[in-house]
Amino acid sequence: MFNELGLSTKVLSAVEAAGYTRPTPIQAAAIPHALEKRDVLGLAQTGTGKTASFVLPMLSLLERGRARARMPRTLILEPTRELAAQVAESFDKYGVNHKLTVALLIGGVSFDEQSRKVDRGADVVIATPGRLLDHLERGKLLLQQIEILVIDEADRMLDMGFIPDIERICKLLPITRQTLFFSATMPKEIQSLVDRFLHNPVRVEVSPPSSTAETVEQRFVRSGETPKDKRATLRRLLKAEDELTNGIIFCNRKRDIGTLFRSLERHGFSVGALHGDMDQRSRMATLDGFKNNKITLLVASDVAARGLDIPKVSHVFNYDVPHNAEDYVHRIGRTGRAGRSGKAFTISTPMDKKLVAAIESMIKRSVTWLEEGEAAEAAPAESRPRRNERRDSRRDHAARESAAPAEAKAAAPAPAKPVENAKPAESAKPAERPAERARPQPEASTRPHESKGGGEGRRNRGRRGEPDEPRVAFKDTPYVPAFLRRPIEPRRPLKSSAAAD
Ligand code: AMP
Repeated sequence: MFNELGLSTKVLSAVEAAGYTRPTPIQAAAIPHALEKRDVLGLAQTGTGKTASFVLPMLSLLERGRARARMPRTLILEPTRELAAQVAESFDKYGVNHKLTVALLIGGVSFDEQSRKVDRGADVVIATPGRLLDHLERGKLLLQQIEILVIDEADRMLDMGFIPDIERICKLLPITRQTLFFSATMPKEIQSLVDRFLHNPVRVEVSPPSSTAETVEQRFVRSGETPKDKRATLRRLLKAEDELTNGIIFCNRKRDIGTLFRSLERHGFSVGALHGDMDQRSRMATLDGFKNNKITLLVASDVAARGLDIPKVSHVFNYDVPHNAEDYVHRIGRTGRAGRSGKAFTISTPMDKKLVAAIESMIKRSVTWLEEGEAAEAAPAESRPRRNERRDSRRDHAARESAAPAEAKAAAPAPAKPVENAKPAESAKPAERPAERARPQPEASTRPHESKGGGEGRRNRGRRGEPDEPRVAFKDTPYVPAFLRRPIEPRRPLKSSAAAD
């Protein structure tokens, strides 16, 4: 029970208000040690309740003392802007009974505003490494008073090339600080960070998910190889699913996201896109639109979607079979959460045989194939819009285009009535397309690896942000991140996206 962990009364009442009855295994294991001010090495992935395992003890410990100008008391490092923003939301949720100042230092939003907040004194700074270093280099922030450091998703930091930044930051912190360090895996670079920057840590571990929840109905779906075939297969599936309230469509390559997004939009679906090249405001507005049910479908990459807390998703569609079986488990884990039922469809071409076999071997079960014509029978006419199609394209569009997340939140809810024969033309002005918005935006960040690609790292990234193409790295180490093991695929000519149906 939560009240056996040593958390303060204020925190316990916030946890109760959040509706949690029992701590998750990582919370039960980590919180008592964190409250004893021990360093903690937590081996856990997102979805395990790991965020609360450091936020709750931090809130309890922060009740004593107060922040000074430019000298925050605690620092949380996150690999991406979305994760950082999500942790900030956790402070809103679990810190309702506290009067703490939380500063979110991420790229893509005003530097000066962040600086003013730090100036006034922040109890908690949540940052991506690049933007944090910007503040430090400009002398706007001092780390001498940091009592607790959290390094979250350390293995992702490694994949994204943030380790040198983390080392620099660690060296600026007082040696007496407490460190809470989380990683899903322990490659040797991460072990070396732990050895250098943690003091006699308590190691707590929860097993990684290698199986999919029983509550998720999984299907593989045969499809032709061409993008056109795959898009048609996806549309058939979407139209056949009466129970679809919202869904995430995963693509392996970020360049396919824009193409698929435009195609679905043209076919009248309520859809948003999420990938690392979009500017921060568009990403947050899209995410808010999806969370608030103004957008029904989200086309996303693994990097953009991993770790995001979207509690209720009825469907997951794998437009591509993931290259890595673990990614399959992650993707599928977006639905059927907390005992709810969900459905997951994976579109598979004859080229994907090996990947499909790897998935079945990882999850230790065979997945049923959707019978030939099953989806087609349920959705005979492509032109027939179903309940999951666009309800009000102008409003959906506004939610995505919204200049700020707050505005997206304030937008009126979408009407429940489906719009028959939704006209694609009204949202097809080239300048309003997400592909346009997705161009890297100049940011206040002076650090090249944060000025594009959503706070995501500089190493192993595609030309415009996410780790899209494998690059040679870690030549002399046995650890090779999963995405580097993927086969190299030739770039498709750019005009294929323009010619998409
Ligand atoms: P995380 O792994 O931190 O991303 O958390 C995954 C999800 O679990 C989030 O939606 C949390 O709100 C939820 N959660 C965290 N702790 C608990 C708990 N003790 N009981 C139920 N849900 C929880």
